[in-house]
Amino acid sequence: MRTKQFKSESKKLMDMMINSIYTHKEIFLREIISNSSDAIDKLYFLSLTDSSVGIKADDFKIQIELDKENRTIKVSDNGIGMTEEELDKNLGTIAKSGSFDFKSENDKKDGVDIIGQFGVGFYSAFMVSDKVTVETKAFGSNEAFCWESSGAEGYTVSTCDKESVGTTVTMHIKEDTEDEKYSEYLDQYKISSLIKKYSDYIRHPIVMDFETKKAVEGKENEYEDVIENRTLNSMIPLWKRSKSELKDEDYNNFYKEKFMDYENPIKVIHTATEGTATYNALMFIPKHAPFDYYTKEFEKGLQLYSKGVLIMDKCAELLPDYFSFVKGLVDSEDLSLNISREMLQHDGQLKLIAKTLEKKIKNELEKMLKNEREAYEEFFKAFGVQLKFGVYNSYGMNADTLKDLLIFKSSKENKYVTLKEYVSGMKEGQDTVYYACGETTERIELLPQCDAVKDKGFEILYLTENVDEFSLMMLREYDGKKFMNVCDENLNLDTEDEKKALESENESAKDMFEEMKKALGESVNAIRFTNKLKNHPVCLTSEGGISLEMEKTLNAMPGSDENKVKAQLVLEINSTHPIAQKIKEIYGKDNETLAKYAKLLFAEASLIGGKTIDNPVEHSNLVCELMTK
Ligand code: ADP
Repeated sequence: MRTKQFKSESKKLMDMMINSIYTHKEIFLREIISNSSDAIDKLYFLSLTDSSVGIKADDFKIQIELDKENRTIKVSDNGIGMTEEELDKNLGTIAKSGSFDFKSENDKKDGVDIIGQFGVGFYSAFMVSDKVTVETKAFGSNEAFCWESSGAEGYTVSTCDKESVGTTVTMHIKEDTEDEKYSEYLDQYKISSLIKKYSDYIRHPIVMDFETKKAVEGKENEYEDVIENRTLNSMIPLWKRSKSELKDEDYNNFYKEKFMDYENPIKVIHTATEGTATYNALMFIPKHAPFDYYTKEFEKGLQLYSKGVLIMDKCAELLPDYFSFVKGLVDSEDLSLNISREMLQHDGQLKLIAKTLEKKIKNELEKMLKNEREAYEEFFKAFGVQLKFGVYNSYGMNADTLKDLLIFKSSKENKYVTLKEYVSGMKEGQDTVYYACGETTERIELLPQCDAVKDKGFEILYLTENVDEFSLMMLREYDGKKFMNVCDENLNLDTEDEKKALESENESAKDMFEEMKKALGESVNAIRFTNKLKNHPVCLTSEGGISLEMEKTLNAMPGSDENKVKAQLVLEINSTHPIAQKIKEIYGKDNETLAKYAKLLFAEASLIGGKTIDNPVEHSNLVCELMTK
């Protein structure tokens, strides 16, 4: 016999289970039964291609045995079983360590919540048991092993006798306490109601010997004790039941258990289709992004069933990347059970299903946007980035599909608006959708360039995410209206007269700006006067399509070190600000000071635009030099 310690995280979880004051301890049974069902699925799936399995489909079952005297519940299955290594790996370490970590960060104050909201699997048995024994024989193995643990200290593994392939979990139920009547879990009615409640859809029979009374034939009012072997679950998967008989709670419980979330989904999509593609689909839009969603470990996909049997856990082909947040499953009669991953990729039927599912998801999101704005905004905060990437990726191939699902904060009421809403709220004669970029909406509002646009009564979209501007560039226009960054050099809000006056002013200051440009070298493309700054002295704009924000984003990408992108910057100076007068005065008299002013003005404009200054030391020296003059 080997005695082993639990891996540290498992130990934490075990401790929590053993000392749990959680009120829904009853979920332990569901967890143990789900494991059995999964193990049977695996062996059943194998039996389709491997004749040595030797079990008929109808013979698979999960057996429950209650023993009041010895205080045990036994759950046995004839599934795939576990080898010695698998026992160690599966029951000695917590598989979902990452998610557990994540949850514990959020729920440190309230460990209880983790258990209820989040499937904790096998270890939940310890909420009601003081000892758990697992006897198991893996398919293809001659040896059986017994795993046993009485708590967080550790577990033992030894060889044992077991005839048939499969697993038996024996839970030794805790003694009753003042607060907890553990004995109720030894009651056959309680157990059968728990199975109805949580495991009804399990597609293998869950059977139990049921002690009951039966009328004695021919004798009135006389009953005898009999034992009936009953099947306790209906075995109809949730997704095959009609919508009308299902309650929100059914969907929510199913979702939380199956997809290991601690929150209800924000949307449930349950559909059945017959015709060119026959399938049932049950999809969920989660309320929040899974902890690994924005990492490369995340795998998108829906579970794929063929006639109720799981054939693939994450079928990526069923979901486009921009809807990768959707969880759920598809059950189709049209797919063969032992279809391989490679074959699936070329399966026309599957493509058809994927297309219709995509439409369903899109419709659902559109409906939510229209009728449940608040929920949609919550959804968008979690997954909007994904939609925006969807617009941008594949050279904008899906931009049309997705453009009406985008929302952005806007200057009007600092509320989210769709592009359609923006356009329908446009002023007469407005032909441009204005936007501004920055880290936060607060910072954007401070941009001097926004003032002029707002003054003209135009609404501005506030783009705070790196991908935002790229996705608008990909769209190019909406409803014939082009997009323009308020920091774009071409932002043209002046009247013809104003334009002319400015042109001539710039023309006469040409040589002065040349002189100033010498001081700034490559940093700027041009310097000129502008009308668009109300009270502010300076701002930076860009010409040639790459904005300051885009420069930042592109240069922050991995591998961009050798190939830095540069926005073509223009330093614009407010022609009505006293500083304009000042530089005109010193030009030609004191060009050395003019050069210093040029540097200072460029530094100011950079800071306002959210750009770092290349030489902060020089900048600070210049400022102090002026202060002490
Ligand atoms: P989860 O089921 O979420 O993976 P659990 O803690 O419930 O997590 O179980 C851990 C692993 O132990 C399972 O993934 C499975 O590989 C194995 N396991 C548990 N119960 C059984 C069983 N009855 N038969 C075969 N394997 C099992």
